[in-house]
Amino acid sequence: IKIKITEIPIPVGFAAAFEGERVRKEDMYAEFGGGRTPAWELVRKREMAEIEDHKIEVIGPDIDTLGPEGGKLPLAVLVDVAGRNMQEDFEPVLERRIHYFLNYIEGVMHIGQRDIMWLRISKSSYEAGLRLHHLGEVLYAKMLDEFGSIVDKVQVTIITDREQVEELAKEVAKPRYEARDARLAGLTDESVDEFYSCTLCQSFAPAHVCVVTPERLGLCGAVSWLDAKATKEINPTGACQPIVKGVARDEVKGIWDSVNKAVEELSHGATKEICIYSLMDNPMTSCGCFECICGIMPEANGVIIVNREYTGMTPLGMTFGELASTTGGGMQTPGFMGLGRQFITSKKFISAEGGILRLVWMPKELKEALREKINARGKELGYDNFADMIADETVGTDPDSVTEFLTRVGHPALTMDPIM
Ligand code: SF4
Ligand code: ZN
Repeated sequence: IKIKITEIPIPVGFAAAFEGERVRKEDMYAEFGGGRTPAWELVRKREMAEIEDHKIEVIGPDIDTLGPEGGKLPLAVLVDVAGRNMQEDFEPVLERRIHYFLNYIEGVMHIGQRDIMWLRISKSSYEAGLRLHHLGEVLYAKMLDEFGSIVDKVQVTIITDREQVEELAKEVAKPRYEARDARLAGLTDESVDEFYSCTLCQSFAPAHVCVVTPERLGLCGAVSWLDAKATKEINPTGACQPIVKGVARDEVKGIWDSVNKAVEELSHGATKEICIYSLMDNPMTSCGCFECICGIMPEANGVIIVNREYTGMTPLGMTFGELASTTGGGMQTPGFMGLGRQFITSKKFISAEGGILRLVWMPKELKEALREKINARGKELGYDNFADMIADETVGTDPDSVTEFLTRVGHPALTMDPIM
C-alpha cells in the first residue's frame, strides 16, 4: 500500500513558492558547503532488505550546538532508496530534486549539486525550531510523494561530523559521481538511436525546447542524455520525450528531419529548424536558466563564453545579464546561445564553426575550472596548452586589447574561415 503524504511534520512553511527565496548573510544562522566546509549530497539505490523505511538519522552535532551566533558545519545528505522498479540510472534524477525539495522549505536555501552543494538556514527558521532531522522528513516525504512509482522505501542520513563527511565523500559519493560521468563519457551522438527533447522550462519560456544528446547536455547543466532517458522511464508522459534520430540531413551542422519535426511540434510552430552543432545557423533556442552564454565576437573571428557567476564586462560590451536578456526567452538568436558548462569541452561544441578553436575569451574563473579539459580538447585539434591562448578579463574586456593578445599568442581563430 502506498501512503500519500500530504502533511510534512516540520515547524516552518513548505511550498514551491519558497523556491526563489534567498537567505542573506545577515539573516543566516547556519551554513554548509559553498566552498566553506565540505558538503555533498547523494541519492543511492539500495536493496529492499538493506534499508529501513522512514529511518532518519543525524550523525554529528545539530545546528543548536552552534550557539546564539550560529556558524558553519560540514554536511553530507545521503538519501538511500529502494524499490522494485528503482534503477541505478535513476539516481541522478532523484538527486537533482533534493535541490527543489530543500528550497521549498521556508528559510532554507540550496544551491549547486553533488559535492559543490551549498546550504543556508535562516535565523528565523532556526528560532521556529527547524533542525537537521526536519530536512530528512522533507526528503523522505517528497521522494515517496513524487517517485512513488519507483521508490518503496526511503532512508535519510544527515552527517555533520567532519571526519565521516570526508571519509564517506571519498568512499561512497565521489566514486558514484565518477561512475555516472564515465557511463556518459562512453556515449557519442553517433552511438545512440535516440535524442531527447526536454520542455521542462516551457513554464516560463513557452516556445523553448532543449534537444539533449549524449554530447550536448541541456543548457541548464542539470539534464544529461542519461538523465533525460531516465526521466522518460520514470514518467512516460513527462517533460523528456525520445526523438528517433534516423539519418542526418547534414551531419556537420547537425540537422535531422526528426529533430526538426519534434521541435516544431513542441514549440507550437515557433521554431522550425535547429542545427545542433551550429551557433550561426539556426542555433538551439535558449530559455533563461543557461549556465553560460556563447556569443560571436566579429573582431576576433571567434566567440566568447560568459558564465552566470561572472558579474563583470565582456568584450561584446555587455554583461552576462545584458546578454541573457537578448539570448533568452525561447527565441532563436543566430550568433548567441545558452549552454551548459560541460558542453564547452564537448567535441560537438559549435563543431560546424570549427569547435573550441573559435573560443577567444572567457572569464578566468571558468577557464581555470575547465583548464584540463580545454587543454585536452585543444591538443586533439593540434594546439598544446590551448587554455593559455584564450583571453580573459585580466587581458582585457575591450575588443582591442583582446585582439592584440590573440595576435601575440597566434590564436587559431584569427586565421580560420570567416565566421560570418
Ligand atoms: Fe530541460 Fe533545457 Fe530546461 Fe534544462 S534548460 S530543464 S534541459 S528545458
Ligand atoms: Zn531553462
